[in-house]
Amino acid sequence: MDSFKDFTISKQLQYAIDDLGFEKPTPIQSQAFSVILSGKDMVGIAQTGTGKTLAYMLPILQELKFSKQANPRVLVMVPTRELVLQVVEEIEKFSKYKSNRIIGVYGGVNINTQKQALTEGSDIIVATPGRLYDLVISRALQLKSIKKLVIDEVDVMLDLGFRFQLTNIFELLPERRQNIMFSATMTEHVNAIIQDFFINPVTVSVAVSGTPLDNISQYCYPVPNFYTKINLLVSLLRDKETYKKVLVFVSNKKSADLLFQELENYFDSEIAVIHSNKTQNYRIRSIENFNNEETRVLVTTDIMSRGLDLNEISHVINFDTPSFPENYMHRIGRTGRAEKKGTSLLFYTEKEEPAKIAIETLMNIDISFNELPAEIEISTKLTLEEQPRSGEREDSIKIEEDDLGKGFHEKKEKNKKTNQGGSYRRNLKQKYKKPKTRGDKNYNRRNKKR
Ligand code: AMP
Repeated sequence: MDSFKDFTISKQLQYAIDDLGFEKPTPIQSQAFSVILSGKDMVGIAQTGTGKTLAYMLPILQELKFSKQANPRVLVMVPTRELVLQVVEEIEKFSKYKSNRIIGVYGGVNINTQKQALTEGSDIIVATPGRLYDLVISRALQLKSIKKLVIDEVDVMLDLGFRFQLTNIFELLPERRQNIMFSATMTEHVNAIIQDFFINPVTVSVAVSGTPLDNISQYCYPVPNFYTKINLLVSLLRDKETYKKVLVFVSNKKSADLLFQELENYFDSEIAVIHSNKTQNYRIRSIENFNNEETRVLVTTDIMSRGLDLNEISHVINFDTPSFPENYMHRIGRTGRAEKKGTSLLFYTEKEEPAKIAIETLMNIDISFNELPAEIEISTKLTLEEQPRSGEREDSIKIEEDDLGKGFHEKKEKNKKTNQGGSYRRNLKQKYKKPKTRGDKNYNRRNKKR
């Protein structure tokens, strides 16, 4: 849709948009409007700056009739206090000509002032999960009239460890409600929330295009396991002339720590790491050091690198293959900026090959294939996740799921009974046959034929 006139919005909303000087809807606004208005659950893949706040608020405000009732009908959850303030301010601008009562609540400040404000009644609550939960438990706020739930920046929320609070809040909400979620990246954790709490959501995505920049050269290496990936990475990084400024991506903080420790043995102060378990100061220092070229290699998770202004990255190394192809596009987009040439390398195991194929399908190109160099030692050491399982061992959970908490694993068990994940894995196993022995010395020879 090219104009806000194409939306069926009230005069009050149109006036507010005119006042803001917005001439036409952004792509996420065009796509989300009718979906949200239809009442369906929605998952939006969009970053800050895409106009996503108005994308969900416009249809919600359009529907929200004047009411004197005390309990709120719309709940917007965001990960930080700063975002609460920003979103409240935005919503106030959008509803300038409507009489909606909007209240923001967040932790770290006196709860009594917020309790007091809530006694006046509200239509829209914007909240961080922890404080919201405290207010509900202390009966200062009732959620029984909530019709629309928006969770914004859900990937950040989960990375900050809000999974439990989110689950608790879901339990307190009325079952009949519309769920709307925004995330800049898709992760296993985000997907788990969707599977657990959303009903047939419509996905709208504007985060990335599937067309990579021409100035990024892309190569991939088949590698049998985690520790062989480390051997390959060490061997590549030894070439300091070529690998000048390298961003290494892993999908979770546990792998980030493991990789960092291993690389430190070889490169010491040339390596830095950032992820959400590190303190803010540590992260700021790591990024500064990387930017002023005191460190050459930065290990990061998808979420932590978001929004960072990192210039002149020579190489993006995908130490693992993202399960969601869009995340690969995000990653490689960190190099090849401002017309500079950039290179992206992708390491993939046999298990990750379907994800690599999904990436190639999204881009509609094949990533150039590189043999695993013959001098790279094939490690026989396996991570817990890679070890063959004899029955379900308690400690052999997937790395990616390690910090999801008990509730997640319980649900997974339930899902297994319906045979969703199992049959998929079985099919994959049939298609991509397992190597006879792990850490096989003949791995290179066999893969040469590809
Ligand atoms: P958001 O992604 O919601 O944080 O929005 C990013 C910025 O874009 C905010 O400053 C909005 O006020 C602004 N914005 C939202 N929608 C539009 C639009 N249709 N045209 C121009 N600017 C917009």
